[in-house]
Amino acid sequence: MGNKKTAIVIGTGAGGAVAAYELQGEYEVTILEAGSNFKSFSGSMQKLASLRAMGLFRDLSQIRAFVPNMVIDKSEEVCIVRGIGLGGTTTLATGNAVRFDQDLKNIGINLDSEFEKLNTLIPITTDHKKKWNSSMNRMFDTFDEMGLNPRVMPKALKTDDCINCSHCAVGCPVNAKWDVRELIDKAVKKGAKIVTDCKVTHFEIVGNKVKSVCVKMKNKSMTFAADLIFLCAGGLGTPVILEKSGIKCKESLFVDPLICVAGISPMFHQDRQMLMPFYSRHDGYILSPYIDYFSFFFEKKWRVPSSDLACIMIKLADEENGYLEGEKVHKVLSEKDKEHFAEAIDLCHKILINMGIPKEKHLVGLTAAGHPAGMLPLSENERETLHSPLLPENLYVADATILPKTMGFPPMLTIMALALKITDIAG
Ligand SMILES: Cc1cc2nc3c(=O)[nH]c(=O)nc-3n(C[C@H](O)[C@H](O)[C@H](O)COP(=O)(O)OP(=O)(O)OC[C@H]3O[C@@H](n4cnc5c(N)ncnc54)[C@H](O)[C@@H]3O)c2cc1C
Repeated sequence: MGNKKTAIVIGTGAGGAVAAYELQGEYEVTILEAGSNFKSFSGSMQKLASLRAMGLFRDLSQIRAFVPNMVIDKSEEVCIVRGIGLGGTTTLATGNAVRFDQDLKNIGINLDSEFEKLNTLIPITTDHKKKWNSSMNRMFDTFDEMGLNPRVMPKALKTDDCINCSHCAVGCPVNAKWDVRELIDKAVKKGAKIVTDCKVTHFEIVGNKVKSVCVKMKNKSMTFAADLIFLCAGGLGTPVILEKSGIKCKESLFVDPLICVAGISPMFHQDRQMLMPFYSRHDGYILSPYIDYFSFFFEKKWRVPSSDLACIMIKLADEENGYLEGEKVHKVLSEKDKEHFAEAIDLCHKILINMGIPKEKHLVGLTAAGHPAGMLPLSENERETLHSPLLPENLYVADATILPKTMGFPPMLTIMALALKITDIAG
């Protein structure tokens, strides 16, 4: 055992969990995680809504009082959401588990066998239509009648356990939704060690190798060392660590921004329905039913009962133009992004009108995002190694940071497939 190679995995989200799970065994893995155990929202949206009426919700960052692991980074035009804690942002994900690797294929990266393996690890299903309520079926039929080609969303879900509470994005209260904590648990059972509340700040690099991983724990500075380092702190966390270590990332951050358009329809009850049960693909964006609790709590015009919202999310493939200044995120929408949003908002109005909800009863929500990525994008040159020449030889990045192009589509499964391939190459 003493002679076993050692690895450090930084972060326990989509990329980190897969890396820890795969590497433990061949390596003695230590997982360094900035946050703590994930706590899902356990309250009642209706009770919170009464506080909303008192005007108590003023700033999105207040969300942490109810969902402690949810962190909001504000940029010029987009509020970016991520999860800090065990399971990373997958604990907040709505469980969409879709393959989206055309841009990786285009640069010569084939992930067929990795997606196959993930299918054996994750309960991915499209059999949840039987759980939809009549309003959701009505919305699906409207999309269909309008020729918008709605598709049932593949979900990482134990369908029978789902209680249709619409809380997917604040943590599933009954663990029906699968997230990567299952892989972390398996890695730990195989012997991996986890250090939580341990924020990695930077690397000490000597020659072309990471000599020490420098961390802050309860304001104390410490260092860790290993033969192999996997950096999986997410699309915003990873570039901060790299830049503090003297490795400059590209100013090519994309975030897949989203805006929701809702119609007020008494007793529609999308608040008793899983989020994003189906989607419709368009040039540059997708549409999917999603009750926008951010706008519900923080936008004055949205102060209607959650039961009365018929809500469609627009998720955009934005231009890769964002960057970081220290930990501060800069992200603006380009003219093209704004045009895409305008076109998509118009389409949402048409759908809601076709559902019988007149335009004067429509609401447009705030701009948020949950897919920060792309600041160390893979290119054709790295198709064999999946290792940027900017990185020291014993350091791999295996998270959203390496996605090559904006997606406008749920990225979790593709990040996991990439992480799987990288562990194979590095291990
Ligand atoms: C509300 C919401 C819903 C979503 N729904 C879906 C969905 O249904 N399907 C889908 O495919 N995608 C979804 N996403 C996006 C998806 O969850 C993320 O794209 C994915 O989890 C990113 O994986 P990652 O490994 O890059 O980062 P993350 O999953 O964010 O993991 C990063 C990890 O690093 C840790 N960390 C950060 N900084 C440090 C540091 N300095 N030191 C140590 N640890 C650190 C974090 O705590 C975290 O554990 C959603 C996102 C949001 C916000």
